[in-house]
Amino acid sequence: MLTTDPNDPRLGWGPGDEKPVPQNDVYLVLSEEERAKGFVRPVRRSYIHKTCGAVTTMGLALCETYARNPKFYGSTYCTTCQMHKPVGEFTWSEDGAVVGS
Ligand SMILES: [Zn+2]
Repeated sequence: MLTTDPNDPRLGWGPGDEKPVPQNDVYLVLSEEERAKGFVRPVRRSYIHKTCGAVTTMGLALCETYARNPKFYGSTYCTTCQMHKPVGEFTWSEDGAVVGS
């Protein structure tokens, strides 16, 4: 589930997880209006966790939020480790760029 409200009480924040957890119930994304202002990075659909080598694919709204504002998220989820980890541990599978850069 997605929200554009940064004050949504269901949002989970933090630098990362130390043990496996389910994905959050709700993730914050930029509004459609904000995303429509233009992307500063390509829209990339999946990233590789450097620690485990596995690929995680995201929904389009999350990908477009990264493309609009690459620094929007401090951590992101690896579906193989089942943990949120700092974005610097991930590279985009499409072009090898570090997530968040
Ligand atoms: Zn991983």
